[in-house]
Order: sequence, then structure tokens, then C-alpha cells
Amino acid sequence: MTDDRSPALDRHLLTITQRPPRVFVHGDGSWLVDDSGRRYLDLVQGWAVNSLGHSPALVAEALASQAGRLLNPGPAYYSRPMLDLARRLTELSCFDRVFLASSGAEANEGAVKLARRWGQKMKGGAHEVINFHDGFHGRTLAMMSASGKPGWDRLYAPMPTGFAKARLHDIESVRRALTPATVAVMLEFVQGEAGVNLVDAGFVRELRALCTAHDLLLIADEVQTGIGRCGTAFAYEQYGIEPDLMTLAKGIGGGVPLSALLCKERFNCFEPGDQGGTFCGNPLMAAVGLAVVNEVCRADFLADVRQRGEQLSRGLQAIARDFGCPGERGLGLLRALQLPSDDAAAVVEAASSLAPAGLLLNAPRPNLLRFMPALNISAADLDDALGLLRQALHEVWG
Ligand SMILES: *Cc1c(COP(=O)(O)O)cnc(C)c1O
Repeated sequence: MTDDRSPALDRHLLTITQRPPRVFVHGDGSWLVDDSGRRYLDLVQGWAVNSLGHSPALVAEALASQAGRLLNPGPAYYSRPMLDLARRLTELSCFDRVFLASSGAEANEGAVKLARRWGQKMKGGAHEVINFHDGFHGRTLAMMSASGKPGWDRLYAPMPTGFAKARLHDIESVRRALTPATVAVMLEFVQGEAGVNLVDAGFVRELRALCTAHDLLLIADEVQTGIGRCGTAFAYEQYGIEPDLMTLAKGIGGGVPLSALLCKERFNCFEPGDQGGTFCGNPLMAAVGLAVVNEVCRADFLADVRQRGEQLSRGLQAIARDFGCPGERGLGLLRALQLPSDDAAAVVEAASSLAPAGLLLNAPRPNLLRFMPALNISAADLDDALGLLRQALHEVWG
């Protein structure tokens, strides 16, 4: 809502978005409660960050026990959680080295820095990164350049350079963007912010082959798709290829700010002092990350994510049939429902206002709803959410 509709609520925050006039005070699993006591079934989950739902005991305990022991000795010293989380991530993935940070954009900047450093040392100063139209890599100035969001090249001009754009599923457009200065190709396996656009496995394999042939780094931005969201620990496992670098954020912290950049040993080429950050690798967040990763990346947990993903997919397909929607798509528990009209915002509003309990949804496009529930959502809560969605669609379309 606009500031003048809720003047008493907010006169002090810098205006960055229009928030509904509600203050959330409590969260428990898939449920949120506002300060009037209203309950909401939440399929946004802090933008796909609460892998285990709101305020899970596992995160609260990891925070409390680490907070009582050691908050932050500083990034230039080792701590046990930093070492343990890095080791665990390398055990689970095809990567050998880990840099811990606090946000997805920061991890992605680290990936571009590492690629450029490698280009300086091994590839005659190559530094350009090829990204994709409609891609999203974060909101720092450089990551806005890397992202392919329309208008972002002008919003804060002048923008950092060194990023070229290609089109998904058009390998010729990637070849055309190649120059002797190219060092890497960076991609999301599922373009989440652009509307849950799935990338074909064939295209990913073509990209992998092209990167290998030209000695380019393939950087996987798994900020949204990693840590179980797509039904496997990492989405790249479902494409039969290995990236050279990978970034993780969102779900890895289970709700706290934590991100990671992973690379193969061959690209372990920062010199001491090249990269860092005051909060990078702090034990408080690393301890939470370790607890979350150990829980989410268990085989039985991931099997449940795949089952819930199928349940959500079937439910959305049925809704699409009953309401004349073009269809649904997604991978695991990152899914979207296409609407036949630009009513997504109206559906989000109607869903959140349902009585007695609301449903929280996200509309990344005017005709698209995105679903990113807790990875451990129960089958019953998911069925309830699908029922509430039907009610909201009835309200909007009569
Ligand atoms: C959310 C997101 C980012 C940015 O992460 P922040 O933590 O907001 O900086 C980058 N890449 C992808 C694919 C994302 O979904």
C-alpha cells in the first residue's frame, strides 16, 4: 500500500517497495501471524529463503548455541563453523573450495571477480562475462549489469561494463557474444525472478561444451535453485553437467543472511587480500548454514521435496484445467502458474485477504504466480494452500 494509506505505520523507512499494511509478528512452519492475530499460509517464505519454514527449532538452536559461544572472531581468523560448512559443501557437490558471504549478489560478485582474476592469470586478461536476457543475479551495480532485466541498464547509469547478453536456448547468440576477452558464461538453471523459466538440458549441455572448447568458466547461479529447492541438493545434478563455479544463497541460511561461492581447485586463484568482507564466514551464520544443509541434503528429505513438488504440480495442473489457465511449470518446489490474463496482482491481494486465514503468494509477472513453499511443507498444508488458491481465483474471476 502507499505511504498515505498507512501513514502511522511507516514514516521512517526509505521507500523501496509497496508493502501491505500488516506487521508480521510470529512465524511457525508454513504459517505467519500478523499483529491483529490473523493467520496466513505462506508460500513465499521470505522469497524462498526459509527452507525449513518460519522459525524452525533447528535454526533457533543453532543460532542460540553458537551465539553463546562465538559470534565473530573476524574474517581473517578460522572458526569451526566456517571450516565445517565449507567441508560439508564440498562433500555434497563437485566443488573443492568455498568462499562464504552474506547475500546472493555478494556471492555472484565474488564469482565474477574470481573469473576475472583467473582471466588475468591464465587467459591473457580475458574478463567479459556472458549473461542471459531476463536473467537475475542481484542488485549491486555490477550484478545489475549482469542481470538482463529491462531498464536496469539505465536506472543507475553509468553501469559497470564487461557483461554481454545472449538469449536462452539460442547457442548462436552465445557464439555471437563471444570475443577474445570473454572469460565466463553465467546462468540460472531456472530463471526464478523472470517467472520460473526452465532451461532445457540440451541447451545447458551445449553451453558446457562451448565453455570447455573455448576454455571459459561456466558459472551456475544457484542462489534460488540450490540447497534442495528443485528436489536435488543442487539443480546442476539434474542436467548431467558440472559447472566450474557455483553460487548459493537464499535457502542455504534457512532465513538468515548467508551465501557461498564454490569453485573447482583449478580456479582457486585469489591471492591473499584479493577478496573478503567483514561478515564473510562469520560463525553465527555458518553454524546455521551447516545445520540447514545437513537437514535439507539428506536423501529422505530430498525425496519428500520431490513428492511435494509433484503434489503441487498436480494441484496446479488441475487448477489450470478448471480455470482455463495456460499451464504450470517448475522444478521441485519452485513452480509457477500461468494465468490467462494480467490478474496476478489481484489474485495475490484476494488470496492474502481470504477469511479466516489468508494465503501469501508472489506475482513476479502480471500474468504469473510463483510458489516457493518451505521445503518441509506438509502434504496437508499444501492441499490447504491449493484450496485457498482456488477460492482466491473464484473471487477474482467470479
Ligand atoms: C535472489 C537472487 C539473487 C540475489 O540474491 P540476494 O541475496 O538478494 O543478493 C541472485 N541470483 C538469483 C538467481 C536470485 O534468485
